[in-house]
Amino acid sequence: HTHESSSSKRKVIAVVGGGLVGSLNACFFAKRGFDVAVFESREDIRQAKVVRGRSINLALSHRGRQALKHVGMEDTIISKGIPMHARMIHNTNGKRSPIPYGKKGQYILSVDRANLNKELLAAADTFPNTTLNFNHKLHDWSPKTGAMTFIGPDGQRKELQADLIVGCDGAFSAVRKQFLRQSRFNYSQTYIPHGYMELTMPPIDGDFAMEPNYLHIWPRNTFMMIALPNLDRTFTCTLFMPFEDFEKIRSGDEVIRFFQKYFPDSIPLIGVEALKQDFFRLPAQAMVSVKCSPYHLFDKCVLMGDAAHAVVPFYGQGMNAGFEDCLVMDEIMDQLNENIAAVLQEYTRVRVPDDHAIADLAMYNYVEMRAHVNSKYFLFRKYLDNILHVIMPKTIVPLYTMVTFTRTRYHEAVNRWHWQDKVITQGLWLSGVVSAAGGMYVLVRNSHKLPSISAEHLWTRILTSKRF
Ligand code: FAD
Repeated sequence: HTHESSSSKRKVIAVVGGGLVGSLNACFFAKRGFDVAVFESREDIRQAKVVRGRSINLALSHRGRQALKHVGMEDTIISKGIPMHARMIHNTNGKRSPIPYGKKGQYILSVDRANLNKELLAAADTFPNTTLNFNHKLHDWSPKTGAMTFIGPDGQRKELQADLIVGCDGAFSAVRKQFLRQSRFNYSQTYIPHGYMELTMPPIDGDFAMEPNYLHIWPRNTFMMIALPNLDRTFTCTLFMPFEDFEKIRSGDEVIRFFQKYFPDSIPLIGVEALKQDFFRLPAQAMVSVKCSPYHLFDKCVLMGDAAHAVVPFYGQGMNAGFEDCLVMDEIMDQLNENIAAVLQEYTRVRVPDDHAIADLAMYNYVEMRAHVNSKYFLFRKYLDNILHVIMPKTIVPLYTMVTFTRTRYHEAVNRWHWQDKVITQGLWLSGVVSAAGGMYVLVRNSHKLPSISAEHLWTRILTSKRF
């Protein structure tokens, strides 16, 4: 990219939040030649001893990878990821059955969140036009002047100015607070009744305790457990369950009893003692879904990543959508010659329907993953959809494939899914009717081969049978 700034001074972009999306976004803006300043409330996790935060590992897929590729980070990240080619379903009697994610060779990657964040911060740090400011917590900002107030490392307030504020400060965004004060800003947030808890499954004799190249799932209708592999040969198990069920389990023995009933095969793998302790180490964490629009405020500010759209984690798309946000923004920057006011408007126009669609899909999968992976019809439909995809690769593409392995816009993927579903369901109906009709036809056509029973004949038979 060649970059010609319209003014003599380069525009200053303040990226608030140096999490996954903020650190990647800094690379995108820096690559364009803007002056970038990242403000992150935490200390520099590259130097931190313990990294607190959400899920330990995440599933990275096509959209996220495409965005990483654009800033030259794809190979670095995938070299430290573990491919997962299929789900591995564990039922209560310990039986395991794989369900592939897509076609042969298609897989998602288990990546370590802390490492991903560190690598992205390091990448942003390599740009001479980027500064990283840790221990800077955004307190408030003014939509009128664009001035931001931070609480700095020494607890002192700091006023800073930028041409554009990019809010990448997560689901509880401080940047977003100013949006909430505006007229015609739509906002909704929903907490689901489920919480999540992470448990570690250590290696056995130095090797993974289960098959590593799978996303393991223990679906149990109202709750479920999943496990993703880590480079150190551990698995991180995540138990998703209604808070009220978490609260019912109060002692180590109750934990074991619960696991014996629902996840018996995991007990020896996690370890009885570890399970009894780890379960009470941290309380279950809440999950929130946030939708809003527009994503921009004048030509001053734009929300991206979880700050714009926190989604429940059941499609493995939160980070991927946030990474794709950066790519979409970059594409629009190209289209509109970095005219910030126009870019922000276009970004909202293009991105809101897609991010809303993935928020809805994630919520839908919240139900599907828990309940349907156990249902015969669901499995049959997954199977059928995959077969149809192989036969007619252009016409029928499973929803999961569109979302995970393509950059089909999320809202188009949803529309197409509804259309395909209608066609396939009607097809199933039709083939049902055709085979019923076919059966009838065969019967009628061959009726001459059946013993012919006329009324007269019948009467004679009855009479004779009575007589003899
Ligand atoms: P965050 O990661 O939340 O980062 C926000 C950053 O802003 C943080 O560093 C924070 O310290 C900083 N910050 C906050 N407030 C301020 C402030 N006032 N001033 C300055 N800085 C501030 N996504 C996937 O794609 N695949 C998965 O498999 C997946 N699994 C998940 C599992 C779980 C259990 C959860 C909860 C989420 C999962 N996600 C997954 C979603 C993913 O975690 C998020 O979408 C992603 O972290 C969003 O990145 P972000 O940078 O927008 O926000």
